[in-house]
Amino acid sequence: MPIGRSVVAVMSRSLLAKIFAVSFVSVHLPLIAMLVYLGSMRAAFSDPAFWVLLSATLAGTLFCLGLTWLLLSPLMRLTRAIDDYRQGKPMTSVAAKRGDEVGQLDRKVSELTRELDGLILRLRQEATEDPLTGLANRRALMERGAESLVQKDSLQNVVSLVMFDIDHFKAINDRHGHQIGDRVLVAIGNLLRSHIRPSDFAARMGGEEFVIVLPATGHDDARLIAERLRLLLRDSDIAPLGRGAVTASFGVVTSESGSPELQRLLSLADASLYLAKDGGRDQVVCCTAEPA
Ligand code: GH3
Ligand code: MG
Ligand code: MG
Repeated sequence: MPIGRSVVAVMSRSLLAKIFAVSFVSVHLPLIAMLVYLGSMRAAFSDPAFWVLLSATLAGTLFCLGLTWLLLSPLMRLTRAIDDYRQGKPMTSVAAKRGDEVGQLDRKVSELTRELDGLILRLRQEATEDPLTGLANRRALMERGAESLVQKDSLQNVVSLVMFDIDHFKAINDRHGHQIGDRVLVAIGNLLRSHIRPSDFAARMGGEEFVIVLPATGHDDARLIAERLRLLLRDSDIAPLGRGAVTASFGVVTSESGSPELQRLLSLADASLYLAKDGGRDQVVCCTAEPA
């Protein structure tokens, strides 16, 4: 590439090169004027004043380049910090204490990324959380529930899934209104939150249907947990319905070996739930998933 084009290419990419070029020309104007003057006197190189001026100009040039680089280096660090941030690392401040334009830019970028972090967190929450009960929603279940299956006890290699559906919920809505129906759903969310283990994962699948993934939980324990939840729900005093007004039917599936797929466990639990409804509701029906 011709030198002229290379210089233009460097200039267009680098603020440092631009500022340096401007400073270089400015710094050299006295030297050029001196050269023109001494040239007209035909005594340029023998005059000590020329060498003094040349040395001072060279020193000034180096000083100008070093200081410009120092002043602009936070911008380069800021560019790297933004690249890191886009790759998932936290945003780091590079010149927060500086009061000049670079410091202002740094603070503005930090503010912007903080706002962005908050927005992302809120959007992620909205995308994965059921706003009524505060439980995970179906989307989160399909993503995180599948991960919980992988966390199953590596020795026992066992996992269970509980699915339940409120009995005659439409009648509750029809008789007491949608708001009371919502209150029932909120109460179930609270009940699940306070009665499942931290390793379990509860989600509202939609409507009045809930799912709990129970890692490292065998058939007998899963049945006990489902029975306990069934009784707790039946004994809940949800105003103005009173105790015994809300019941649910439970389908439980346990996989004792292999690597079960969430979708398969969901359809087996759904089939058990259907049997629980068919058998008169307010009961638990369990099944076992054979290895695929
Ligand atoms: P079953 O015992 O067979 O499950 O009968 P059910 O009445 O519970 O089932 P059905 O599918 O007939 O009715 C479910 C009702 O759940 C209908 C719908 O209006 C209500 N529902 C779904 N989502 C919500 C919600 O977010 N809030 C309220 N209040 N009701 C809801
Ligand atoms: Mg129902
Ligand atoms: Mg239903």
